[in-house]
Amino acid sequence: MPQDLTVHIPSNILDAVYAGAKELYPRESFLLLRGKKNKGIISITDLVLAPFAIHGEGEVHFNPYMFSGDLSLVGTVHSHPSGNISPSHTDLNYFFGRVLMIVGYPYHGHNCIAAYDSNGDKVSIDITPPLECNDEDFY
Ligand SMILES: [Zn+2]
Repeated sequence: MPQDLTVHIPSNILDAVYAGAKELYPRESFLLLRGKKNKGIISITDLVLAPFAIHGEGEVHFNPYMFSGDLSLVGTVHSHPSGNISPSHTDLNYFFGRVLMIVGYPYHGHNCIAAYDSNGDKVSIDITPPLECNDEDFY
């Protein structure tokens, strides 16, 4: 029986995703999500830049095979400057990891983010208290 997933994202990581998306607007931003999966809960702990992602017009291109050995990567997040937070066919074709997150313009609050599983089904998101950052390089 398939297990329902929930994504836990600390509010400061969500803020960082929104900040990056705003900076690149009207282009798309693209980041990898690092985290842990425990039972049905995926806890996001970090963001990873995908340096070879192309921030062009339209969809971001990314080669997931370059990261296929890194088990701490749980998925991806990218922005939709249109504000529509539904995944495109390209998004689902390039699905990587366990969860696909999309943030939509205006990149603010709790309603500009959505998460999907590999079937394109919506996954619930809990915004959790800010994570104490033990990685000094993060900021
Ligand atoms: Zn997309």
